[in-house]
Amino acid sequence: MKSVLITGGAGFIGSHLCALYLERGYKVICMDNLITGTKDNIASLFDDKNFSFINHNITTPIHIDGDVDMVLHFASPASPDDYLLYPIQTLKVGSLGTHNCLGLAKAKKARFLLASTSEVYGDPLVHPQTEDYWGNVNPIGPRGVYDEAKRFAEAMTMAYHRFHKVDTKIVRIFNTYGPHMRLKDGRAVPNFITQALKNEPITMYGDGSQTRSFCFVTDLIDGIYRLSLSDLNEPVNIGNPNEITIKELAFSVIRLTQSKSKLKTKPLPKDDPRQRKPDISRAKEKLKWQPKIDLEDGLVLTVEWFKQHV
Ligand code: UDP
Repeated sequence: MKSVLITGGAGFIGSHLCALYLERGYKVICMDNLITGTKDNIASLFDDKNFSFINHNITTPIHIDGDVDMVLHFASPASPDDYLLYPIQTLKVGSLGTHNCLGLAKAKKARFLLASTSEVYGDPLVHPQTEDYWGNVNPIGPRGVYDEAKRFAEAMTMAYHRFHKVDTKIVRIFNTYGPHMRLKDGRAVPNFITQALKNEPITMYGDGSQTRSFCFVTDLIDGIYRLSLSDLNEPVNIGNPNEITIKELAFSVIRLTQSKSKLKTKPLPKDDPRQRKPDISRAKEKLKWQPKIDLEDGLVLTVEWFKQHV
């Protein structure tokens, strides 16, 4: 039986990965320090004898007894609100945390997969974003703590691949949504759904003309699973290329929840990317992956989950 260590395993994406790898017959070691993750996300997994949880801050050295075949490094605050709240932790988990995870992968002769992000492209000047675009990032802005940590993490990952011959993978994750997002996560989808369900004003930042492309979480983790088993070492974008404006997203959420909420404009955060859409040609060609769940269906599933938790 193969064993996989998932850092950030109690977070939004990490918890879905824990469930998926258990389902596919892996022994799963979930590691999290619970600053943004929660045990609620993994509560249903504790009965599985192949699941274990370790509360650990991976910016300090990681010790695991026994074999580890794969390290999936998903630990990091990931909401712009959280980068403001935890700027130093965000930088440390992307740099020191990634170094510790790579060191563990090297020692255990394990595969390593880094959760990177579309934020490495910053406020992109190339649209849609292909993996060979180097990005347009402000290193000293409020988002710089996340963007630069992930860019450093990618550089460190490639260095371990080239120098230590670790079998590494990098997934660049675009906006993702679904069950297990925190109600007060701060990102657009959970904010809008929570506000709509409470008939409170929908906080639209700026004029809402900025775009994003939202991927449902089950599609995302299917792409990550395929990448983890592939022989690819170059970065791969995983996301849904269906691009919409934030204003359109707000109206979709209001409609699907039959809410009485109205839009309330708030200032656009500094360095908020104007547009974002993944070019997924590489994932299609090399992983035979593409998203299956359209935004409408994904939002309905997400609203159902939020209704039980608001
Ligand atoms: N946004 C918004 N209202 C909110 C939260 C976010 O208008 O309550 C906007 C935000 O300014 C950005 C987009 O929605 O343009 C997506 O933001 P999110 O935080 O979800 O992810 P990002 O892609 O910026 O990391």
